[in-house]
Amino acid sequence: MTHRDVELLAVGAGPANLALAVAIEELAPDVATNSLVIEQADTVSWQPGMLLPDAQSQVSFLKDLVTLRNPRSRFSFVNYLHSVGRLSEFINMGSLWPYRVEISDYFQWVAGSLRNVRLEYARRCTGMEPLRDPDGTLTGWLTRLDDGSTIGSRYLVVGAGRDSFVPEEFAALPERRVIHSTRYLQRIAELPKGLPYRVAVVGGAQSAAEMFDAVQRDLPGCQPSMVMRSIGLKTYENSKFTNELYFPCAVDDFFAARPEARDQMLREMHVTNYSGLAPETLERLYSQLYLDRLTGKGRLRIVTMNDVTAAREDSDEVVLELTDRRTGAVEELRCDLVLLGTGFVRAMPALVQGLADALGLERVEVTRDYRLLVDGPATAACYLQGVNEATHGIADSLLSMQAVRAWDIAKDILARRAAPAGAAAPFPPAPARVPVN
Ligand SMILES: Cc1cc2nc3c(=O)[nH]c(=O)nc-3n(C[C@H](O)[C@H](O)[C@H](O)COP(=O)(O)OP(=O)(O)OC[C@H]3O[C@@H](n4cnc5c(N)ncnc54)[C@H](O)[C@@H]3O)c2cc1C
Repeated sequence: MTHRDVELLAVGAGPANLALAVAIEELAPDVATNSLVIEQADTVSWQPGMLLPDAQSQVSFLKDLVTLRNPRSRFSFVNYLHSVGRLSEFINMGSLWPYRVEISDYFQWVAGSLRNVRLEYARRCTGMEPLRDPDGTLTGWLTRLDDGSTIGSRYLVVGAGRDSFVPEEFAALPERRVIHSTRYLQRIAELPKGLPYRVAVVGGAQSAAEMFDAVQRDLPGCQPSMVMRSIGLKTYENSKFTNELYFPCAVDDFFAARPEARDQMLREMHVTNYSGLAPETLERLYSQLYLDRLTGKGRLRIVTMNDVTAAREDSDEVVLELTDRRTGAVEELRCDLVLLGTGFVRAMPALVQGLADALGLERVEVTRDYRLLVDGPATAACYLQGVNEATHGIADSLLSMQAVRAWDIAKDILARRAAPAGAAAPFPPAPARVPVN
C-alpha cells in the first residue's frame, strides 16, 4: 500500500475543483506545485450521462471557470475557443449558451492546460478521515483510494458532485431494467437497437424531458411514456430580476439571512432551476406529441398527476403501479425499461457524510468561505463545494458560482497559510451554527 502527502488534495475533477485548481495556479503557485486533484473517471467529462449531442448549457459562457474572478485569465472559455480555432464561428452563432459537449471539451482543455496542479485520473476516493496530533489538534486529512493507497493533506476540498436519487419504489427492480439519467448515454449504448422497447420515463423536469426526447432517437422503434406527479410540463421561470439571485455576490445576502428568509428564497427560486424545462425543450416535445397525434401513431404518451407507487418485474416485463392523484385510481403500466429523471439526493453525499461521521459531527456545516466547521483546535481545513444550497443559495451547485467560490476558498487557505504563528496557526473557533441538511 502506498502513501504520499500533498498540501492540498481536491477530490473530483468536475468544474468546481477545476475552477479551484486554476485559482490556486493563478493566486498561489507555491501551493499549486504541491496540490493534487484526483478523479475517478479516465477523463474530464461534464455530466457524461447526459452529454447529449444537441443539449445546451443553461448559463452564459461568461460564467466559465474564471471570468467572474479574473476576466484576464488564460483559462477563459473565450481563450479555449481561440485555442481550438472556433472563436469566429461561436461569435457568429450569436448565442450566450454553448453546447454541453463544448463546455465539457472546455473543461478537458482547462485540465490539460494546468501547469502546476497535478491531476490524476482513475483514482476513486472511498473515504476521508481526520488526522490529529497527541493533543487532539486536527492537523490533516487521510484520504483512502479504491486501490488501497492513501493520501495525506493539510487542505482537503471535496467537489465530487451529488448522489443520484433512486426512489425506493424502484430499488427492487433488476439493474438492467432501470437507468438513472446520470448513466443514460453509457447504458443506452449497451442495448440492442431496433427492438420495440416500451420505455417509462419517470419525472417531469429537464432530465426526464431530455431522455424522453433522446430515447426516441437512441432506441428507434421504442414507445416512450413519461410519468410525472405534476399537472404537466412547464418551462422554468427565468426573470432577469430573480436571476440576480444567481450572481456570486448574492451569496453574502443569502448567508446572512434569517432561516425563514432563506426558506422563502429557496422556495420561490425553486421554479427557476428545478422542476421546469428549457423553453426550447418544451416546444420540441410538444411538437413531437402533436405530430404523433396528427399521424395517428400513438407512440408517445404523457401521464400527468400520477405517482409510481410500486414497481415489480413480472416474467419478461416491468410492471409499474400508477396511482392517480386526482381520483386515487390505480392502473398498471407495463414496460421493458425505466428511465429515471428523478434528480439527486437532497441530503449530503455519502462521501461527505462519512467524513462528518469520522469527525463525530452531528451536522455538516460550513462557513461563508465553505470551510467545514469542526470541533476543537485545528491547523487543517476541509472545504465543501456544490453541496451548500441551504446556506449559500440556489446557485451553489451551478456553474454560476464556481469561479468566485474557488476564489473564496483559495483566499481562506492563503489567509491561514500566512497567519503569523506559521503553519501551526489554529483556526478560529466555530461561529454560531446553522444546520445545512
Ligand atoms: C444533466 C445536467 C445538466 C446540467 N446543466 C447545467 C447547466 O447548464 N448550467 C449549470 O450551471 N449547471 C448545470 N448542471 C448542474 C451541475 O451540477 C453543475 O454544472 C456542475 O457539474 C457541478 O460541478 P461539480 O464539480 O460540483 O460536480 P460534478 O460536475 O458532478 O463533478 C464531480 C466530479 O467528481 C468525480 N467524483 C465523484 N465521486 C468521486 C470519488 N469518490 N472519487 C474521485 N472522483 C469522484 C466525478 O466523476 C466528477 O468528475 C447540470 C447538471 C446536470 C445533471
